Amino acid sequence: MRALILAFAITAFSAAAQAQELTPERAAFRAIYEELVEIDSSPTTGSCTRAAEAMLAHLRGAGFTEADARVIVPDGRPDDGNLVAVLRGSSRRAVLLLAHIDVVDARREDWERDPFTLVEEGGFFFGRGTADDKAMAAVFVDMFVRMRRENFRPRRTLRMALTCGEETSNRVNGVDHLLQNHRDWIQADFAINEGAGGVIGPDGRPLVFNVQAGEKIHQVMTLTVTNPGGHSSRPVPENAIYRLSRGLDRLSAHNFPVELNPVTRAFFERMAPIVGGEMGAAMTAIAANPRDAGATVVLTRDPSYNAMMRTTCVATQLDAGHAPNALPQRATATLSCRVLQGHTPEEVQADLQRALADPEITVEIVRRREGSRPPQLTRAIMGPVEQAVARMWPGTPIVPVMTVGATDGRFLNNAGIPTYGMSGMFAAPGESNAHGLNEKLRVQSLYEGRDFLEAIVRAYAQR
Ligand SMILES: [Zn+2]
Repeated sequence: MRALILAFAITAFSAAAQAQELTPERAAFRAIYEELVEIDSSPTTGSCTRAAEAMLAHLRGAGFTEADARVIVPDGRPDDGNLVAVLRGSSRRAVLLLAHIDVVDARREDWERDPFTLVEEGGFFFGRGTADDKAMAAVFVDMFVRMRRENFRPRRTLRMALTCGEETSNRVNGVDHLLQNHRDWIQADFAINEGAGGVIGPDGRPLVFNVQAGEKIHQVMTLTVTNPGGHSSRPVPENAIYRLSRGLDRLSAHNFPVELNPVTRAFFERMAPIVGGEMGAAMTAIAANPRDAGATVVLTRDPSYNAMMRTTCVATQLDAGHAPNALPQRATATLSCRVLQGHTPEEVQADLQRALADPEITVEIVRRREGSRPPQLTRAIMGPVEQAVARMWPGTPIVPVMTVGATDGRFLNNAGIPTYGMSGMFAAPGESNAHGLNEKLRVQSLYEGRDFLEAIVRAYAQR
């Protein structure tokens, strides 16, 4: 995933990873995980297609035919392959299990260990993709293999998609490609995806179990001032750069209104007692009344909480003038806006125009992004999750979260397939270092996540 959600400060943790007993079933799963991590699927040196073909071979070995599992490679992009598979149920309802198999580049010389060798050491699995997102991908492949072998007949159809192009924009996004060209393979009532796991607290024990539902929409905007310009030896008061700068200054002091949805309200309610102190009290207050001015001031100080409770627009690029010796004829600022679901780009545009307080500054929407509604945390979705969490991590609160960045869930949500992020894999905050050096995942978290995902998928399958 591209942006992490959790933000509260945890300074220390104890890595008390228990020795994991390797049953034959678990060893077979571990072998799939190892194989997948060791296939380089990074954009510069790797291939998603190779990873997809390798996982397809496991499915073929279990009896999946061409009619129910295949690799789909976009035209002209031989390394951007995706794997799709289906276990057909007796009803027409379906659930989609989604994971991406591409990874961010990793250079051997920068890493302590070879990034494309799975190393188990000190209670962790090390390697690129161990956490993001090959753990979930391997869990789904292993699950499909065993379900097929045991001749499992779900009521609800189970679909799996292991896709490319989640991490970098220089590849074909697999989810987008499948939606547009092979929608039958991934059509579902809802989807399970990456996006949230669980948080291990300072005492080394599970602190919260997260379910991700919904994300903000990334909408780029530009602000432009134009001017006739002239020779720089004769400055005039009316200057495009100065005018844009004054508008940007006003914008820097502007906050969009606080607005909670059921997911973010539940997040603040449930996090309040865990965070405690002044911040915790502010969370309780804002959940009860989003107009609470005092609580808003406190929460605004934390960039993550601030981003969860309102739309944000921030200046990220500037481009102005055409020559060192000419008055600027044009000055443009690029804004990165993260829009709360349920709002249109036009609403944000109008808000910006008001905040800029200058009709000479033109606000333009760049590549308009359609907003979708946040997925609902219904009983049908949450029932199996609550049961599995109560059994596996008794007493651990379930905290819904909204991603302030973006995942592939945005394509599915926009296509009417509500998508929930949950892996059941716990980590201390920042521990996995996904996208960074020496990415890792707790051994115990991998196996527990596998048990969790299997429990909920089997429950959904029988509903
Ligand atoms: Zn990811």
